[in-house]
Amino acid sequence: MAIACGEDRIAWFDRIRYRKQPYVVKWGASRGSTMKEWLLVLKAADAAARWHVHQRRKGPAEEPYINHLVEVAMLVADATGGNDTNLVIAALLHDAIEDCEVPRELITETFGDDVASIVMEVTDDKSLPKAKRKLIQIETASTKSPRAKILKLADKTSNLRAVAASPPPDWSVKRRIEYVGFARKVAAGLRGVNAQLEEQFDEAARAADRSFRPAL
Ligand code: ZN
Repeated sequence: MAIACGEDRIAWFDRIRYRKQPYVVKWGASRGSTMKEWLLVLKAADAAARWHVHQRRKGPAEEPYINHLVEVAMLVADATGGNDTNLVIAALLHDAIEDCEVPRELITETFGDDVASIVMEVTDDKSLPKAKRKLIQIETASTKSPRAKILKLADKTSNLRAVAASPPPDWSVKRRIEYVGFARKVAAGLRGVNAQLEEQFDEAARAADRSFRPAL
């Protein structure tokens, strides 16, 4: 009886193991790759926080710059349904070369060439005068890759939200109006890749518009 019971137990255990194994293997594999991706995203957030440690947003609250980078990364992650980890990482690092002169090689080394090339695609050439850089942004927007377009649109959305909610104290109304106009011109070349993000951009631009006008 004891032996039979033992055999039964073995058979029961085998059946369970047989039934469960495919799920265990599948779950284990997907869990492993997801954790790897999470780790890379957290590494990018950590790198961005360190690189931009002394930088603040231009609004009166002088928020840490990482707030902007996280907002852009969240917009990108949401717009792509969480399906493009490298684009989220690139969003966290999108101002690293332009603002902190982080060498491209350093980004490639840790996050790979795909991330580094997206960051390069959204990086302005700081050796050019500001007016020229703005013109180039407008002229080249439509030539960017779809992923760079999504990232740029998220960046402009975050900037417009900041203009509406907390404009830089030294920006005149004229300068704020000009910035919204500039952002709309760049965004015109970025359309057609993500309807949700376009809607969020349009809402941010409308909010910025409303912020210049009397409440009634
Ligand atoms: Zn930015």
